[in-house]
Amino acid sequence: MSTTLKKYDLDKLTVATVASHTALQILRGAKKYGFRTIAIAGRADVAEFYQQFNFIDEVWTVDFRNFVKAAEKLVETNAVFIPHGSYVEYVGWRQALEAPVPTLGCRELIKWEADQYKKMELLQRGGIPTPRVYKSLEEVDRPVIVKLFGAKGGRGYFLARDREELRRRLAGLSDYIIQEYVFGVPAYYHYFSSPVYGRVEVFGADIRYESNVDGRTFGWVEPTFVVVGNLPLVLRESLLPTIWKYGVQFAKAVEEVVGCRLAGPYCLESIIRDDMSISVFEFSGRIVAGTNIYMGYGSPYSVLYFDRPMDMGERIAHEIREAARRGRLEDLFT
Ligand code: AMP
Repeated sequence: MSTTLKKYDLDKLTVATVASHTALQILRGAKKYGFRTIAIAGRADVAEFYQQFNFIDEVWTVDFRNFVKAAEKLVETNAVFIPHGSYVEYVGWRQALEAPVPTLGCRELIKWEADQYKKMELLQRGGIPTPRVYKSLEEVDRPVIVKLFGAKGGRGYFLARDREELRRRLAGLSDYIIQEYVFGVPAYYHYFSSPVYGRVEVFGADIRYESNVDGRTFGWVEPTFVVVGNLPLVLRESLLPTIWKYGVQFAKAVEEVVGCRLAGPYCLESIIRDDMSISVFEFSGRIVAGTNIYMGYGSPYSVLYFDRPMDMGERIAHEIREAARRGRLEDLFT
């Protein structure tokens, strides 16, 4: 993307993203830093919702099946693109890998995220503790969680208390991963990897609010993990050095194993046990919806780095502006 970026008029730099997920905070932050902003919707009714906000300069309605065409048009407007989970879901990982618009962060990571085994491998290569993975039924010696490939938002997961229950429930299923069920509380850590300042920032944390594990179910229904929202979390300070270290190790693993720089926001998803040990069961290589909890008023940890509250949308915009000023945009986009 460096040749594309070199042709850009930096005075007219535009920030674009898909209208969903975290688009509001991304575009609001971009506008605060003086960028032009574009939201790309897949449907007219969605576009109408985003049109009401004056920090969004243009709302496009496009056919996500041909996102490459929209990406080409974005280049004509000097746009850089901020990916998020809904973008990858709507346009598919193949188009996300190929879209010819400078895209924040490490695109190659999308391929690793599409495979549950590769995902865990990357975490392990970073020296980050993960739940045990069982290759066969016979190995199972404790409660497990089974994740079907392609499961999204916690749908398509189930628990089994022991090997016998697992045997019954696995009948007829294929393409899944069997993981140790880690007992404790969920905690999701938000990081920002900054090429401009040469550091990884631990930026915030959240908990997901999930339908049948957090709901009023009285033990009468099966646990399900369908995400309906996010709740703020402030961590015990004694946990922060470890959590930061895992973030640093992950960024390093991405650079060494995947071969590209992890610029911008990312997330490690974990369970913290009652002995305070952490087991990371998932990651996201880009902004997560949990960062929406501090949109507009900033994350509690941002003040530690910038002495003023900042949300993740503003943090991204800050990095882009500084990189543009220092002639280092190529360090952020692939
Ligand atoms: P995910 O869709 O990967 O974010 O996971 C959905 C839910 O499953 C989260 O609430 C996690 O707390 C839970 N979960 C996933 N993997 C494990 C695990 N190995 N042990 C305990 N809980 C897990």
